[in-house]
Amino acid sequence: MTTSPTDFSALSLPAHVLANLQQLGYLQMTPIQAASLPVALLGKDLIAQAKTGSGKTAAFGIALLANLNARRFAVQAMVLCPTRELADQVATEIRRLARAEENVKVVVLCGGVPLRNQSASLENGAHIVVGTPGRIMDHLGRGNLNLEALNTLVLDEADRMLDMGFFEDIATVAKQCPKERQTLLFSATYPEGIAKLSQQFMKTPQTITVQAQHEKT
Ligand code: ADP
Ligand code: MG
Repeated sequence: MTTSPTDFSALSLPAHVLANLQQLGYLQMTPIQAASLPVALLGKDLIAQAKTGSGKTAAFGIALLANLNARRFAVQAMVLCPTRELADQVATEIRRLARAEENVKVVVLCGGVPLRNQSASLENGAHIVVGTPGRIMDHLGRGNLNLEALNTLVLDEADRMLDMGFFEDIATVAKQCPKERQTLLFSATYPEGIAKLSQQFMKTPQTITVQAQHEKT
């Protein structure tokens, strides 16, 4: 039997994770997954750029789940997203990817929902938080969110977060994360602000760009 370099089985993932991916109908890695997962799974910082719809959520979702210990009741990964809608989508995808593992709890922290409902969810134990920078800052300011055990920080749709003026909020949140962590930045485009973000909050990141098919020469 031969293994293509784009088979998920080319990665050293646990068998139950591979089986779950197959059940989800994820038979082959998308190009951005094939390019970024081997680097992310080594624990390295990464800037990954690929167009919308290319499977970026699973690229960081699989990586952060590989770093997670579900038996440890602490927030180990945090994903910053530009909007509530996107945060909900990311949380849904991570829950699907995590289905193979024991009771991984993903809590969404975005505006428009009372803070106290979210702090109750945090108190009940969260392994992963997904949210918008403003609301996450609110929870940090109130002492509701402990990031001491955080090992993966993801900046998703970084270009849109910068467009929306979240640079300072991202900076505030990133400064409260442990220094010894992995930072993964995903974006559809590569505006100037990305380099500034990476210089301030990432450790010699590897940059991976997957061009859309029609853009290839
Ligand atoms: P992006 O964040 O790059 O815009 P998404 O992560 O939202 O893209 O993924 C787009 C769609 O592709 C989703 O419906 C997701 O379930 C699906 N998908 C992701 N990875 C795979 C894969 N390896 N095989 C099949 N479908 C996939
Ligand atoms: Mg996305």
